[in-house]
Amino acid sequence: MPSPQELPKHYSFDDVEKRWQRIWRDEDYYFDRSSNKPQFVIDTPPPYPTGNFHIGNALNWCYIDFIARYKRMQGYNVMFPQGWDCHGLPTEVKVEEKHGITKNDLPREEFRRLCRELTRSNIEKMRQTMKRLGFSTDWSNEYITMLPQYYRKTQVSFLKMLKQGYIYRSEHPVNFCTRCETAIAFAEVAYEPRETTLNYFDFDGVEIATSRPELLAACVAVAVNPSDQRYQSLKGKELCVPLFGHRVPVILDEAVDPSFGTGAVMICTFGDRQDVLWWKKYNLELRKGIDRQGRMTGTTGTYAGMKVDECRKAILEDMKTSGILHRQEPMEQRVGTCWRCKKPIEILSERQWFIKVRPKEILDAAHQIEWIPSYMLTRMENWVSQMEWDWCISRQRIFATPIPVWFCTTCGEMILPEESHLPIDPTVDRPKGPCPHCGSKEFTGEQDVLDTWMDSSVSVMNVTGWNGEGIPPFFPAQLRPQGHDIIRTWAFYTILRSVALTGMPPWHTILINGMVLGEDGFKMSKSKGNIIDTESIIAQHGADTFRQWAAASAAIGSDIMFSWNDVIAASRFQTKLWNILRFALQHLAGTVEPSVSSVTVLADRWLLCRLSDVVKEADDALQHYQFDRALKAIREFTWTVLADQYIELTKSRLYMNDGSRESARAALWITLDALCRMLAPFTPHFAEECYSYLTGKSVHTQPWVKFSFEDTNARAQGATLIAIVAELRRHKHDRGLALNAPFGRVTIYREIPLEDGGDAARALNAEVRWRGEKPVLERELKDVKFNMAVIGPRLKNRAKTFMEAVRSLPLSAMIDPPDHILIDGEEVTLPADAFVPQFTYTVEGEKVDLLTIGDAFVTIRQAV
Ligand SMILES: [Zn+2]
Ligand SMILES: [Zn+2]
Repeated sequence: MPSPQELPKHYSFDDVEKRWQRIWRDEDYYFDRSSNKPQFVIDTPPPYPTGNFHIGNALNWCYIDFIARYKRMQGYNVMFPQGWDCHGLPTEVKVEEKHGITKNDLPREEFRRLCRELTRSNIEKMRQTMKRLGFSTDWSNEYITMLPQYYRKTQVSFLKMLKQGYIYRSEHPVNFCTRCETAIAFAEVAYEPRETTLNYFDFDGVEIATSRPELLAACVAVAVNPSDQRYQSLKGKELCVPLFGHRVPVILDEAVDPSFGTGAVMICTFGDRQDVLWWKKYNLELRKGIDRQGRMTGTTGTYAGMKVDECRKAILEDMKTSGILHRQEPMEQRVGTCWRCKKPIEILSERQWFIKVRPKEILDAAHQIEWIPSYMLTRMENWVSQMEWDWCISRQRIFATPIPVWFCTTCGEMILPEESHLPIDPTVDRPKGPCPHCGSKEFTGEQDVLDTWMDSSVSVMNVTGWNGEGIPPFFPAQLRPQGHDIIRTWAFYTILRSVALTGMPPWHTILINGMVLGEDGFKMSKSKGNIIDTESIIAQHGADTFRQWAAASAAIGSDIMFSWNDVIAASRFQTKLWNILRFALQHLAGTVEPSVSSVTVLADRWLLCRLSDVVKEADDALQHYQFDRALKAIREFTWTVLADQYIELTKSRLYMNDGSRESARAALWITLDALCRMLAPFTPHFAEECYSYLTGKSVHTQPWVKFSFEDTNARAQGATLIAIVAELRRHKHDRGLALNAPFGRVTIYREIPLEDGGDAARALNAEVRWRGEKPVLERELKDVKFNMAVIGPRLKNRAKTFMEAVRSLPLSAMIDPPDHILIDGEEVTLPADAFVPQFTYTVEGEKVDLLTIGDAFVTIRQAV
């Protein structure tokens, strides 16, 4: 360890951060499965391996690292695992682009191999950024959902929930993305505004307005409101669908809005969610108009094979030709889109796999969890209460966990593997025996795969040590940190699955972070050009300044605007504390863990009172995950209390050679030790560098600060001393004197004179005397200061005469001015604020300056 004299003048974040990252060992952050310490398991989010650990990820992980480091210092056995949620469409699309193929050009297993290869290299890139940010990740608990050891657990959980009756297979309307060619869950539908056309046309004598004429072939009923007088005659009738000729019933339903369009609507299978509700309620026929590729089906006759948009144009054209299209008007509409590819989704009736949603079960569990901030629970409650359909978990893709099920080709029986045989791919592997129902040996493996949320929603089971049986040994986890954008997906699905598999809520606490916005206050996006790259911030200002920005910018749960200024301010803070350390270390040689009992001087004891306050504040804030409050308290203390007030007052004492120097050395050492430890979770590299110079030890193996100190007298008197010295220094400056210039003799009169150990005298370069009695003052008029801004306009050419008249007033009239004054024999009103008398004061025969500072009365006899 270099000696304090070798402390470099400038703090070089790049050297320091890289050096400590080389020295720190991964093993120091491993969760100890045999430890007696209380556990603190964090169910960290597994990011999607895009190859770019973006700023939103980085914010989320900074929060997690602050918590992990703080809890470790508090004596917890912490698990901060790292997962990777690999499966899904974006990787498939990237592989298709990269190799110039489509998924159907290769055997499934070969396509999966290319996906795994891309994912591996992306994970490696993201790991590098995470290491550069100094996260104390437990790499011994890394999990990768595309690997067999993980997706075996996904498959086991599927079989268990299937046997429990949570999972079923059924033909049911689902949200379907025809571009991605897969079903998607409700939580993956994003609603966006769109401009469309409302078309009014003749439907067998009834005028109907529709925005989706292409679904005419899929029309299964017409609905009107029962109270709508215009349509009373339609009750019990059937109508003939124009262009197609099939007959459909007229339905009377309260849900029809008479003020929309003409008040008569088509029910099609399926135009929107309302169609699905009516279709179920009235047990209507199913007419599929659109297929999985987004093309019109055979049901649509001559339109079959057309894309949806082509069909819409063609049908409108045909309506015009046959003279049934009355008019068209523009309309704003909210349309459901696929959250991955942004294309409008369709509702198709499909045979799919579902998980039953039991709202009460989920809400009961959600209410047992502590939500931070608490209002985020409402978002979960709202989501659960509006669920209409079960969770569709099957996807028609390739790079995903296979659904471990076969069907007997002869009798259709569903065949399940033994849990001990998992993982399997039913399209490759075969059942171990014949069909138990009919004895056939012909099977069809399920081609559908699982929604990726099926993988990630058992992350908590995995990190708490689940091997596929019973309740995991470290379950439930203590904390789930995640963004508010995935409450209705990741949080919801995890609670659902944990309750199904263990009967318990998955975590004690869920901590919800906000999103990072660009410097312009908008969501970061390529099109806005406001994306800020994590790596570029680290390269310019270092990881610790980024981490300070993450901590200090906003309360948890709030969205955060990125700000370069905040990063620069963080960098200045490090420079400030580095300079304090450089100064202090010149005087601290040989000081090792001094005792509080050697702190005897007033200012030192005051500092420890203030340190005790900031320790309490930071500790309380961290316990409540209020990182902004904790870091602001630490920075404010360092800048103001320690640097501006304490060190300015006491630094000269450190050059003395007596007990008062020991007192200052002890106070300073105790304060710097506490500051390093409090900063360790926020700025791990900087705190480590400072602490190693101070103590030769690693701050990350130290316990959290337990410092409490109270001395009521020192707290009050120290504050007075600080205020008096600050005011006198300002006075000195106003007099045009250098701060270190001799300042003569200062006498401070106060009911209780302070025992300041000579600090005031040294800080002012003055002879300072403290007196308990009041001074005997004599006063003499020195001068009169006129306010020309008042006198000029009011007295104009008589100003000079006025000033002479004032000067000749008796002293008593000068102090307590009369209403009028005599000028050239004329009474003139004396304007307010026209002048201030200036006095000289004398104490014990010496001329002095006089100041009142708080409850103290100060005389200064300046040096001559
Ligand atoms: Zn899509
Ligand atoms: Zn069979």
